[in-house]
Amino acid sequence: MPSLRHGRQLVAIPGPSVIPDRVLATMHQAMPNIYEGDLVDTSMTLFRDLPQIARTGGEAFVTISNGHGAWEMALTNTLCRGDRILVLESGRFARGWGNIGATAGLEVQTLAGDDRGPVDPDSVETALREDSSRTIKAVLVVQVDTATSVRNDIAAIRAAIDAASHPALLMVDCIASMACERFEMDAWGVDVAVAGSQKGLMVPPGLGFVWAGDKALAAHETADLKTGYWDWGPRSGRDGHYLRYCGTPPIQHVFALRAALDMLLEEGIENVWWRHEVLADAIRAAIDSWSSGNEVEHNIVDATFRSNAVTTVRTGSIDANRLRALAEQQAGLVLGIEIAGIGNAFRIGHMGHLNPPMVLGVLGTIEDTLLQMGATFPESGVAAAARSLAPHLGER
Ligand SMILES: *Cc1c(COP(=O)(O)O)cnc(C)c1O
Repeated sequence: MPSLRHGRQLVAIPGPSVIPDRVLATMHQAMPNIYEGDLVDTSMTLFRDLPQIARTGGEAFVTISNGHGAWEMALTNTLCRGDRILVLESGRFARGWGNIGATAGLEVQTLAGDDRGPVDPDSVETALREDSSRTIKAVLVVQVDTATSVRNDIAAIRAAIDAASHPALLMVDCIASMACERFEMDAWGVDVAVAGSQKGLMVPPGLGFVWAGDKALAAHETADLKTGYWDWGPRSGRDGHYLRYCGTPPIQHVFALRAALDMLLEEGIENVWWRHEVLADAIRAAIDSWSSGNEVEHNIVDATFRSNAVTTVRTGSIDANRLRALAEQQAGLVLGIEIAGIGNAFRIGHMGHLNPPMVLGVLGTIEDTLLQMGATFPESGVAAAARSLAPHLGER
């Protein structure tokens, strides 16, 4: 059967993201000495450089896990059994983090959110003012919810906590947004940030990251949810490199992350954020075109809160699952499934190792598939995307 699918499959889901060849190549190594030499030296540079990525002077901890493990590390190192956490809903991921906390012995209070917009900082302030006995010990929020594709305003949420003069720790899930969206851990007053390796950090799944500021490190002293494996104490490095990972280091991931951090630092983190914004603007321009005369629309209503890392696209009466299947089977483009419980929709992941030909290829394939399914639009979304990109091609 003739097919246009041959060639490199493009996986445009919101994680795992595309792994750069430079990262892949460095993983192809035999096992080294794990107690001294190159591996240990390389690994120590990760702990040195990771704080720059989150823009903090705090400490970085690395887990051999996915993001869920990093969630658990963040909570168990800073909180006590029976502590209350305030979970700010804006999709599904903050709720998932709260569930991990509930199992660990925390009391979860949820501030309900909606599927099409961000967390409302005023409601956060109200909820914290109502907590007059200060039983809430931490506020949990995602910067980008990968299900709805909303980007929350973390600085505004910090301001709400301060306006209520509330002492709770601010913990932010940056799993979908680290090294995609501007994130200023110290300047924004974030106490704990969490990320995973397989999204903006361009490394295969398997590493989690937790950044802790002074207030979080102080909370660790009295936290009683600590467990032997996740405990920050031995992982702080005082007792040697081996205990930073609580055992054998994830050798291949150490080298992969080194290559990825080199790429990010060579490009410059501000430029990385800028590139994500320019490419995301092109995707949004295409969706704007497709939505005129169609039921295609942005899930996030207010453009201010649309993420630069992932976009959830509603498709009205167009069957999004069929669209995804056609794109994958006919053209080798893998799009993200709908996971927010919002009905007919799909997601485009645009995090990490991406450039204009990749984005335009994704959009062109979606447009072809929409046309094949009978959608019509007065203007091509791909043309709109190209026009959106054009003024930036020569920048920087
Ligand atoms: C991907 C993701 C997670 C889950 O990460 P895993 O590595 O699958 O455990 C959590 N939160 C957000 C915002 C995510 O995008």
